[in-house]
Parts: sequence; structure tokens; C-alpha cells
Amino acid sequence: KETLKQQANEEATKKLASQDWETSDFQWTTKLYQTIQDSFHIEKFRPMQLSAMNAVLKGHDVILIMPTGGGKSLCYQLPALISDGITLVVTPLVSLMEDQLASLEKLGIKAAKLNASSTKEEVNMVQTAMTDKKSPLKLLYVTPEKLAKSKRFMTKLQKMYQLKHFAFVAVDEVHCCSQWGHDFRPDYKFLGVLRSLFPTVPIIGLTATATSNVTTDVQKMLNLKNCLVFKASFNRPNLYYEVRNKPSTQKECIDELVHLLQNRFRDQSGIIYTTSVKDCDQLASDLRQQKCRVASYHASLEPSDRTQVHTGWRDNKYQAVVATIAFGMGIDKPDVRFVIHHSISKSMENFYQESGRAGRDDLKACCIVYWRLSDLFRLSTMVFTEQTGLRNLYAMAAYCLDSERCRREVIASHFDERWESSSCNKMCDHCSQESKSTEMNITEHLITLSQILKRAEEQQVRVTAQKLIDAWQNTGQVSLRLPDSKKSAKLPRETCESILAHLLLEGYLKEDFHFTPYSTISYLLLDERANYIDKEIIMKVEASLDEEKKPSSTRSKTTRKQPTTPSATAKKLKVEERLIDVSDSD
Ligand code: ADP
Ligand code: MG
Ligand code: ZN
Repeated sequence: KETLKQQANEEATKKLASQDWETSDFQWTTKLYQTIQDSFHIEKFRPMQLSAMNAVLKGHDVILIMPTGGGKSLCYQLPALISDGITLVVTPLVSLMEDQLASLEKLGIKAAKLNASSTKEEVNMVQTAMTDKKSPLKLLYVTPEKLAKSKRFMTKLQKMYQLKHFAFVAVDEVHCCSQWGHDFRPDYKFLGVLRSLFPTVPIIGLTATATSNVTTDVQKMLNLKNCLVFKASFNRPNLYYEVRNKPSTQKECIDELVHLLQNRFRDQSGIIYTTSVKDCDQLASDLRQQKCRVASYHASLEPSDRTQVHTGWRDNKYQAVVATIAFGMGIDKPDVRFVIHHSISKSMENFYQESGRAGRDDLKACCIVYWRLSDLFRLSTMVFTEQTGLRNLYAMAAYCLDSERCRREVIASHFDERWESSSCNKMCDHCSQESKSTEMNITEHLITLSQILKRAEEQQVRVTAQKLIDAWQNTGQVSLRLPDSKKSAKLPRETCESILAHLLLEGYLKEDFHFTPYSTISYLLLDERANYIDKEIIMKVEASLDEEKKPSSTRSKTTRKQPTTPSATAKKLKVEERLIDVSDSD
């Protein structure tokens, strides 16, 4: 009997999903279009917004997956506005809540919040509104903790429900329900009772986490019935993706950034992301010395300084903000033409979100990442204690190290989306160049590296990646160098770094973290896979012309790569050639 019921359910869900939700002939359609313009001053819907709203207004449970910045909030705010009663919004962070309330207030929409720090007056005001059908309150934001811990509040909700004053529930960042998600919150588990306590109230869950196991898990945790899942594409067709090799010295790096700011991105607005507060201030000051109009923004700034930087940038007084990830909330400058990652992000999710701040006006914008192996280790010591920290970081590194795949394809597959690389329209560095990749056998290199690592182990010394490469290149600590100096790598340092990164990502090497009183250090060890090398290890490298080995100072904007057939002497790692500016945007 149970299976029959289940089958019927699945049938019903399928039927619902096959319906056209993107249409405009529901009884609320006119009101929807009117309100989006009058109250939100937005001209048109983005993909999936209309579907999600129609489905929830029709009374269905909905999961909406949309990239960060895609416009999920509108999908419950607008229906809330045109529905009778109050919409309950569950948000994991008080800061997110306050952000939302501030923007709703600007639009003149009545919203309130309840959390651990709410004053007595606030609580009273809200609780009165909940059972007053004449109250203008439309949206009520709460933390999951509030729901889980306050019986009084739950009682009020039930009253609100009985009065038919409960419009629907929106659960923001709904992936927090799932253990599979990247930030599981135990209090989200409590939300499972909502479905049975308020059987006729639709629930809409919103997230940017797209993996299918999270989606399924979330539905189970929330006990959603015949839930409709809408997923917007993660593809941003107007963004040009590019990875460059980060020069080894700060000076060269600054020169390159200055060149970009003053030529390719001249008179354009952008963001340069860095990792630490110190880097951020240093980079901004170095760039200012070269007459770039930039300001730094990070968590240690006073609120008034933050506002000053933000508005200065918005009004184009600053060409770029040099920022840590603290610069994010509330940025909606439409004409951001470039986002440069001076150092890699800690995950693809972060990268997607940060780079996604470019080109909100749908005009072309560039997302450039500077890759350097040392940045990977700096970040790994920061994230390795997080459950999926290293895995996330390595995915970011893999994006940078990939020498041939379309960048969009890498991003799409990360977000579980199917992708035809032909649809990139040459909007990434790999698709815009007609280069061919060749293969490099790095098995011998792994053998050499493992000999060095074994030597180190015998001497009971730990080696960092830098030390390992030193020994490999026959420099640095003498005792670690191999007696047979022919084995020392004659490859450029950058090539050595790429090989090492490849071996790390492929599971031949692993990081080994040690705490010191002041910092955490990442050392390298052989990983299991190195013990049974049963086939040759091949690394994809890109073929290019020697002509392109020009130092960055002689680089010219017009340098174009010619289609080339690989030759043994012209073999060169992809990462080295990223110094060439192949931009056609200036
Ligand atoms: P998310 O929650 O998906 O990360 P938000 O809901 O915070 O994104 O929306 C990001 C920005 O997009 C907001 O400034 C919002 O006003 C804007 N926005 C949402 N929908 C539209 C739309 N249809 N057209 C233009 N801007 C929109
Ligand atoms: Mg959001
Ligand atoms: Zn591409």
C-alpha cells in the first residue's frame, strides 16, 4: 500500500513539474507584474523567478536553486506582498536578516524580525501583528533557533495559522538542513515539523547549492510533499573567464595589475580580491603608489570607512576596491567590468559568488584569477579544519590548473549542470585561443619527488612544498638533495610547481598539517596512490610558441597567439603562457 501511495505521489510530482510554470495566465499575474514594478522597481523577471513564484502562489512546496546574487529573495518577497497574511522567512544569520530588512525598508515594505537580541517592544509588536488581520506586516524574519527554542512563538504561529493569516514559509539558505551541505545547522532540523503543523501553508526553500543529493536531502528533512524543484542556470554568458599565472615577485605582480587597470580596464570599474587584511592594505597601497585610484576594504575597517569606500567606488571615485571577502554584502553596482582574484578563492562557490559580482548589467565583464602554488598552501592551512575545506579548495585549484577545458564547462560541472563547451562563445581564455594541448609524462618526476621525501623521512625532517621543490632543483638544504644530480629538475620553477600541484590534486601527494604557536604549516607527504604507480602519470600541458616567452614588461596588448602544432621544443606549460594578454576587450 505504501509503495502504491509513493508511486502515486511520484506521478503527481512529475505531472506538476511538467506543467508550464513560466506562463503569465494565473489569476494573480497582473498584480504580480504591477507589484514588481511599483514596489521593487524591477522591469522584468530573471529566469526561474516567475516559475517559482507561480508555483508557490498556487500553493505548492518549492525548492529554488539559483546562484548567489541571482535574485532569490524576490521570489518570496513579491508573493508575500501580494498574498494575504504574513510570510515567515527563516534565515540562518542575523546579518542577512538585517540586510534584508534594510532594503525592504527602503522600498517601503513592512517587515520585522525576531531573534535572540530582539527587544521586548519588538517582540510585542510582532506578536500582536501575527494575530491581527489588519496589520500591515507582510514579512517576518526569524532565525531557526527562534523557532526551535521558543514555544511561545510557536503557539503564536499556530494562532496565526488558525486565523488564516499565515501566507507561506520561505526557508533561505535551505541547504543548511542537509548534512551534505557545506554548512549544516542543527537547528534547521526543527523545520521538519512545519509541514505537518501547517499542512496548507506552502514552503519555499532557497539555496545556491545545486548538488542533487543536497536537494533530495532537503526535501526529506523538511517533509516536503510533491515538491517542485526549479533550478536556474549557473551560466553567466557575459562573463569572460581567465586564469593567469601569478608572477613570483610582488613587484612584477603589481606591474601587471597596474598595466591591466591602466589599459585593458581603463576607465572601468572593478574589484580586486585578496586573502588577508594585510595583503589587502599592502596591495592597495602599492597600487596607489602607481597612481591607481583604489581603496582597500576589509573586516577591520571602521563602519564609517567601509561606507566611505563603498560609496566612493559606487560613484566611480575609485576605479577598484581591493578587498577581502568582507566586501560582498549589499554590493549591487551593475557596471562592474572586472573582478580580479589576486589570490585564489577558498572554493568554487566563493569564486563563483565573488566573480559573479561582475557584469550585473549583462554587458561583457572579465573574471581573472591569479594562480600561484604558494597561495594554495596559505589557504589550505586556513581551511583544513573545516569538514570539506580541503576538498573545496582543491576544486578551486583544479579550475586554475586545467590546461584545456572550457572554464565554463569546469564551473558548470562543479554545479552539477550539463554544459556544451561550444556554447561558451569564446568567452573564456581556453575557448578564445586556438591552442592544442599535449601530454607530459610526469611519472619520473613523481619517482624523484618520492625519493626526496623518503630521504627526508629518514632524516626525520618535514618538508614544505617550497623545500621539496628546492631539493628537486638541487638547491636549498644539501642533505635533502639527491646524490644523483642528473635527477634535479631542469624545468622552470613554475613547471615544477604545476607538476607538484597536479600530483597533490591527483592524490599522489598529500598535505600534512602541523600547528606551531603562531601559525599552521603545511608539509608534504606521499599519499597512498604513490605506493602503487601502475600506469604512467600524464599531465596535460598546452603547446605554445617560444616566441611567447616574452617577459611581462615587453608584453603587448596586440600579441595574439597563432594556431600552432605542438613540437617537442615548444612544449610549455599552460600556466606559463598565461602571462600573454589575449584580451580583445580594450
Ligand atoms: P540571492 O539571494 O539569490 O543571492 P538576492 O535576492 O539578494 O540574490 O538578489 C540580488 C540582487 O538582484 C538584488 O539587488 C535584487 O534587487 C536584484 N534582482 C533580483 N531580481 C531581479 C530582476 N528580476 N531584475 C533585476 N534585478 C533583480
Ligand atoms: Mg539570498
Ligand atoms: Zn570556454
